[in-house]
Amino acid sequence: MQLLKDRIRKDGIIKQGNVLKVDSFLNHQMDIELFQEIGKEFKKRFAGEEINKILTIEASGIGIACVVAQEFGVPVLFAKKSKTKNISGEVYTSKVESFTHGRIYDIIVSKDFLGEGDKVLLIDDFLANGKALEGLAALVEESGAELVGAGVVIEKGFQIGGKLIRDRGIHLESLAIVDDMDWRSGKIVFRGEE
Ligand code: 5GP
Repeated sequence: MQLLKDRIRKDGIIKQGNVLKVDSFLNHQMDIELFQEIGKEFKKRFAGEEINKILTIEASGIGIACVVAQEFGVPVLFAKKSKTKNISGEVYTSKVESFTHGRIYDIIVSKDFLGEGDKVLLIDDFLANGKALEGLAALVEESGAELVGAGVVIEKGFQIGGKLIRDRGIHLESLAIVDDMDWRSGKIVFRGEE
């Protein structure tokens, strides 16, 4: 998605340790006009698919998931990061290792809002090592719902997540794939470019 790639080049900040900061339009301040274009692009890429629920993970996925959900006319469900150890039987749960924070946490979703008959599209802001999407996919599987696919705004193609998700046969759509980025020069190479 050219509009997004141009914006990443213009406003993205590359940090040491393979982290791309996009706080000015995606992860802190949010550019809703851009979000709306992102929503339309996901609608196009998953056209013809039957989807009745968007599933994301708090907090940074929620904004994007909302505009995508508006395009599809379906609700958004977000997995909560749980701090409580004793989880009751009323939730589905799975573990996620955070790329940005380097710790493992539980994610939970209430059994009231996900189950057999649901056709779910996963949405997240970034794909790095694939842990967040794998955790969400595990919740969907546990619930008996159908996983239709996964959409991410930015995939870091030099990390393993994209391969892991595609190798599992999940229909993955990434709107911008960063194949290389250098924090010293600020240079970003997107897939399909030199
Ligand atoms: P994964 O689970 O695929 O390793 O990492 C994805 C999650 O980590 C995303 O939900 C995102 O919040 C965060 N993340 C991973 N890499 C980056 C990055 O380079 N920049 C930002 N802002 N977030 C990232």
